[in-house]
Amino acid sequence: MSEESRSSQSWHAESPDAVLAGLETRPDGLASAEVTERRERFGANRLPEAPRPPAWRRLLRQFHNILIYVLLGAAAVTAVLGHGIDTAVILAVVLANALIGFIQEGRAEQAMDAIRHMLALKAAVVRDGQRQAIPGDELVPGDIVLLEAGDRVPADLRLLEVHDLHVDEAVLTGESLAEEKEIEALEADTPLGDRRSMAYSGTLVTRGAARGVVTATGTHTELGRISGLIAGVQTLTTPLLEQMNRFGRWLTAVILLGAGLILALGVWWRGMAFEETFMVVVGLSVAAIPEGLPAVLTITLAVGVQAMARRQAIVRRLPAIETIGSVSVICTDKTGTLTRNEMAVSEVALATATLTITGEGYSTSGEVFLDGQPAGSSIPASFGRLARTALLCNDAHLRSEEGSWRVEGDPMEGALLAMAGRAGLDLREERARWRRNDAIPFDAAHRFMATLDHDHEGHAAISVKGAPEAVLAMCDRQAADGDGTEPLDRAFWAERAEALAGEGQRVLALAWRPVEPSQTVLERAEVGDGLILLGLVGLSDPPRPEAIEAVAECRRAGIRVKMITGDHAGTARAIAARVGLERPDRSLTGAEIEHLSDAELIERVTDVDVFARTSPEHKLRLVEALQALGQSVAMTGDGVNDAPALKRADAGIAMGRKGSEAAKEAADLVLVDDNFASIVAAVREGRTVYDNIKKVISWTLPTNAGEALTIIVALLAGLTLPVTPIQILWINLVTATTLGLALAFEPSESSVMHRPPRPRNEPVLTGGWLIYIALVALVFLAAVFGVYHHAVAQGHSLELARTMAMNTLVVLEIFQLFFIRNLHGSSLSLELIRGTRPVWLAVIVVTLAQLLVTYLPAMQGVFATEAVPLADGLLILAVGVASFALMEVYKAIARRLVGGVG
Ligand code: ATP
Repeated sequence: MSEESRSSQSWHAESPDAVLAGLETRPDGLASAEVTERRERFGANRLPEAPRPPAWRRLLRQFHNILIYVLLGAAAVTAVLGHGIDTAVILAVVLANALIGFIQEGRAEQAMDAIRHMLALKAAVVRDGQRQAIPGDELVPGDIVLLEAGDRVPADLRLLEVHDLHVDEAVLTGESLAEEKEIEALEADTPLGDRRSMAYSGTLVTRGAARGVVTATGTHTELGRISGLIAGVQTLTTPLLEQMNRFGRWLTAVILLGAGLILALGVWWRGMAFEETFMVVVGLSVAAIPEGLPAVLTITLAVGVQAMARRQAIVRRLPAIETIGSVSVICTDKTGTLTRNEMAVSEVALATATLTITGEGYSTSGEVFLDGQPAGSSIPASFGRLARTALLCNDAHLRSEEGSWRVEGDPMEGALLAMAGRAGLDLREERARWRRNDAIPFDAAHRFMATLDHDHEGHAAISVKGAPEAVLAMCDRQAADGDGTEPLDRAFWAERAEALAGEGQRVLALAWRPVEPSQTVLERAEVGDGLILLGLVGLSDPPRPEAIEAVAECRRAGIRVKMITGDHAGTARAIAARVGLERPDRSLTGAEIEHLSDAELIERVTDVDVFARTSPEHKLRLVEALQALGQSVAMTGDGVNDAPALKRADAGIAMGRKGSEAAKEAADLVLVDDNFASIVAAVREGRTVYDNIKKVISWTLPTNAGEALTIIVALLAGLTLPVTPIQILWINLVTATTLGLALAFEPSESSVMHRPPRPRNEPVLTGGWLIYIALVALVFLAAVFGVYHHAVAQGHSLELARTMAMNTLVVLEIFQLFFIRNLHGSSLSLELIRGTRPVWLAVIVVTLAQLLVTYLPAMQGVFATEAVPLADGLLILAVGVASFALMEVYKAIARRLVGGVG
């Protein structure tokens, strides 16, 4: 196969056989040696990524911020006025901020990249005659690919076999109406949008199933031709961060106005020298502007994204980090999320007998018991037919690897294969004997799957499996003893289905009908009636122990868990009781929901926790009903039709393993392990990130306000400044990038999942919070002036008094950090005092910096400081401890009165 033939435009105009020949491949796929050879020849099936902006541009971007512009302006003016040291310190503040922002942002981007790769597209291929799931970028031309509803087409494919295949080609053609596909060859000049015999890379399967052969990969695909590149890096921002950035800009404007006013008042009213006043005002502005805040907040988010990824929850849309922390209801799937999705057939109900099946995992060997006794040769004949039907109406494969059996495909179908093996069928031989000519794929709306198969001896049969209600409606007879049939006893089967479901088993009905060998096409109408019911199969799928634990955690955290499943109500209720949902005894079915108006649904939705036999449209209505009640809703989904509900939910969560690409793309979060416990872990991390954002803000703004107020009061009262402008600049330099940053890495508070969810749209900055800022600022003011005046009263020099005042400010900021670390409880626990590594690192750096500026002669010259005697140093520490105690008392009172600080 030559390069030219591969990129030929006319595969759509050739017959499937000609395409297979042209690509030198076969219906049962390439052999692994060929795959390796082709991978080397054609490269990976990947589009090149957009180049990242160069490092210098990313560094420059750090300066693109109004807060930084103001600082740079201040640096320029101080330079013009000849205050070189002030200029240097201001520039050092700016640089330190930019560098920290640059380094952390780089790390955050890397983390986001790593996460993106975890979400890489998967493709189902047939190689060496075996179905396998492989990463999409490993596809090569000639590979045989299987498609089903919800898949993103992984490469350009010439279709070989289609079953009601509909593909949305909006990415390619802009036309979002799904196009039905076929396999007939078309005219060579058919335009791209009308090539119905092709499925193009990047388009979305909305319905049906198909098999196709890869004609082009990577940049040679039609998508590759148009775009050539995949979307660049997403920026780290959320509504809350944007709100804070707006707040920052607004604050800067206020500070600048205030600074101008103070300058005017100082010069004209107090008659102070312009230059001196100007320097004070610069110090004041720098002190008041929270220049480090944007970078630190971004880092807090990035830390949260990484923490969630470690807990198996991948954030696709950043705002989800905020919303997931506020959810008050989690609507979850059952199978695979609350349960293990490790299915095993445990019971088979036939018309004449009930069989119990045992065996390890998906192993094909096991035992069949009849009325509690090993069945041996007395297995009814209808069981053999049922087992064959289960095998034929099945897309899964079992593989034995190192002694254990694994399923490729749907675990439920895997369990049916294992059952067929245990019933004595040789799976390989049986599959080789039959050839599938047509199929109706399973879809959640109709709840059944059917196949039409022929054997080599001229027999043909339709095999059907599906939800009992769906299948029973298509049957009019049932298998009797031997090979005979008898009229269907609907009441008997309905009762058997209820009984199996009541034990928490997933129930499937199996039916068949022989047809004329000449029939090769299966129409939906044909399976509508006249089938022969073979029996019911009960599949056990035990709850995940960690899901039980997580449901309990949700209850403590005030989060209601609701199960929304396609399964039978009886099964759903039994599992709900086992995992510990609040109201497992009540359920609503999809059919019942259809009969409720929106208003009635809103009324019922609070009290019911189990929703069974639902379709994706019901999910959307449930989300809307819950939201109408003011709830913040997390909703899980996996199918292509779940996308609207996932988009509508406050936090849409898709399953990483069993979820379709369509669901993943609509979701805010993707669970790597499909596990309910990971949703709860993500909620915990979401709450932690929100807490940390609050903590960062709650530390930064009050300390800035405290510093600024100290200067303003001195200036307006005509007092000597207790700290000089350059000292204020220094404090900013050493604290903003250390103490403030440490809070971005705070672990979850122990109470994080013991409090109710925060109300939807609760503002970060509440009235109580303003009181708190004012209080901290006042404590700072009192402490700094107190220490300063005490020093002066003791006869210390002005320099020493100022050095003590400056150190007091820093000590207060350190204690403030410890105070803030626990917003929701007392800080006086051993664990909190012990701190985290970033906290201690920050404290050590700041302490060292203060020792240097206080005791190092060279620094003393620059910052006009003097060595502080030990007794005075201890006094400063004592003031810090006292302020901490005072704030803790305030916290205790605020918690008692209004539930917390701010
Ligand atoms: P959950 O919410 O618990 O994950 P679900 O919504 O995925 O369940 P569906 O997959 O829609 O449930 O299945 C609904 C019903 O359809 C099942 O109870 C079963 O009876 C039937 N069913 C599921 N998969 C198949 C299949 N591959 N072939 C035939 N019938 C199926």
